[in-house]
Amino acid sequence: MRLRVGVATDIGRVRDHNEDASLAENGVFVVADGMGGHAAGEVASALVVETLRDLADRAERGPEDVEAVVRQANDRLLDSAEAHRDQEGMGTTLTGVVSVTVDGAERWAVVNVGDSRVYRWADGKLDQVTVDHSEVRELVDLGWITREQARYHPLRNIVTRSIGTDPGPEPDVTVREPEAGERFVICSDGLSDELRDEAIATVLGEHPDAQEAADALVAAALEAGGRDNVTVVVVDVDAAG
Ligand code: MG
Repeated sequence: MRLRVGVATDIGRVRDHNEDASLAENGVFVVADGMGGHAAGEVASALVVETLRDLADRAERGPEDVEAVVRQANDRLLDSAEAHRDQEGMGTTLTGVVSVTVDGAERWAVVNVGDSRVYRWADGKLDQVTVDHSEVRELVDLGWITREQARYHPLRNIVTRSIGTDPGPEPDVTVREPEAGERFVICSDGLSDELRDEAIATVLGEHPDAQEAADALVAAALEAGGRDNVTVVVVDVDAAG
């Protein structure tokens, strides 16, 4: 695969820490959105990203290695929280795409725990690839509220799975074939809470360059309110196989 990548993050207009972290290295593209008292959210997201770096250092890896590294990250968070009182209860989301090998062929493993998101943009169409692990997502699935109502619902920030829990979370890991011309947007909810899918798609259409697209998405989220930390990784697949 030939890839082009852009990364952008901002603390936003309200928060006094940036608890998001990201990694875009050697086929590993992830975003983590930390939560916890004091600076513990930052510790959680940084620890998880650090654990994912081990994956980036490997020459070859499969989808099972992605699952294994999520378990490792969960253990590291629990160990750290046990050793440091002020980190008690810290946690983080994790989502992204990782290039893996399945039966000798190059594939994407899409990984998700929590309510950060992976979108795929191709032929001018934007689709959310991950399924949010959130209370509001469950209410939408039950038909009790609409997607639009979910945006303003009091439970909108409650995640049903996160890294840093005992027992550890079951990560969603799905495998897909890379396609030339596709673009992935990996983001924290600081983007998706501020911008509807149509607005994200419009910005993507205006910026063919991956870094410019990432910068423009973060700028648009700040413009829309910037109520949370916002982090975006854009991955363009120039040529597949
Ligand atoms: Mg957030």
